[in-house]
Amino acid sequence: MLSYSDARQKVIEVAENTPHQWVWRKIEIEEAFGRILAMPVVADRDYPPFDRSTRDGFAVRSADAQNPGARLECIGELRAGGRFDAMVESGQCIEIMTGAAVPRGTDAVVMIEHTQREGRTITFERAAQVGDHIVSRGSEASEGSLLIHPRTRLGYAEMALAAQAGATCLEVMIAPRLAVLSTGDEVVDARSKPGPLQVRNSNGISIEVLARTAGAETVQLGNAPDEKGALHQAIERGLEADILVLSGGVSMGKYDLVEQVLGDLGAGFHFTGVSIRPGRPAVFATCRNKLVFGLPGNPVSTMVTFELFVIPAIDVLSCADPRPLPVFRAKLATRVREKGPITHFLPARIEWQGPEARVTQLPWQGSGDIVALALANGFLVVGPDRPEIEPGEWVDVLPRRGAI
Ligand code: AMP
Ligand code: MG
Repeated sequence: MLSYSDARQKVIEVAENTPHQWVWRKIEIEEAFGRILAMPVVADRDYPPFDRSTRDGFAVRSADAQNPGARLECIGELRAGGRFDAMVESGQCIEIMTGAAVPRGTDAVVMIEHTQREGRTITFERAAQVGDHIVSRGSEASEGSLLIHPRTRLGYAEMALAAQAGATCLEVMIAPRLAVLSTGDEVVDARSKPGPLQVRNSNGISIEVLARTAGAETVQLGNAPDEKGALHQAIERGLEADILVLSGGVSMGKYDLVEQVLGDLGAGFHFTGVSIRPGRPAVFATCRNKLVFGLPGNPVSTMVTFELFVIPAIDVLSCADPRPLPVFRAKLATRVREKGPITHFLPARIEWQGPEARVTQLPWQGSGDIVALALANGFLVVGPDRPEIEPGEWVDVLPRRGAI
């Protein structure tokens, strides 16, 4: 059975080789957060566009202030956005504000904190070096250079950069469409009152939120019963989207029919199980050139397997590089005992004491226990064949998306 990292790799390979119609559209910059850029953003001018002072202080000829104690005559003031056309001559200096263009003749700025003023005479307590507190024109980017590559995911920094360059109308990739279909005779809509032996559909919500957070648009197909005909119909509708995510019906039970129905529809299976807990029966297939995930229905299994396997597929069909899993190391607070040649994703609480992350496994009743998962802000990742891990050991943790 595949390890979770091999299964992720498989998803990425298959998604990259699946024919997909790439479409982009123009949107206003305010709407672009998280979208994938479909055009280059180019510097419309040099950045900075002039030699810019990065401090409040005095612009000087550095040769005039080589030694502490130098005294120069202040001939004026320059505010951000202000002009000073004359030349600053030897023996002179000019008061300058952060963001102002350093005037001709000067080559250094001395911070106001290191000066004394008596009328027009400024005494410099520190020596000035050429270039001190000046960012020279074009040193961040020169006019015409590429600022943001196509295929970049737009975060706040990229958006600020686009705004700086005046690119306020952006071409971005259309998000892949992901259909959400839950299955199970016992599953009822979350808005209805369940009978005593029924459960509300929570996977519909978790899948939708995870999908949107990862950058997909969702189509909600509700729930299909464990019955071949109805399942067949619902899956056919789901195959109109780019990605179909089913929950439930992929285990060994007599009424777990998802694989059978997908097989009848001509699906090719890439994996029908991954060496993880929760989430072992996860299925990944291609059907009519669409990616199909059959996630186990236990709610924690659904969320873990979505995070591990569906998100890379969304990334690829968004035209972005697949984001790595943000696993990091934390110090184990309490002993952990888990058996088997599989990787465990255990609900856990990650806390910081100073710079060091500490992780505590939370008590839970297994993969149906959303109560425990909602108290967790991450997963303790225990690799295969680690029967006992002692407090104080460094272990891998995976943050729960949006919780840290
Ligand atoms: P299954 O994977 O179909 O064998 O389902 C495993 C467990 O998950 C069962 O206890 C189901 O009742 C539960 N389950 C399945 N689908 C959902 C759902 N959409 N929302 C909440 N629980 C579910
Ligand atoms: Mg079921």
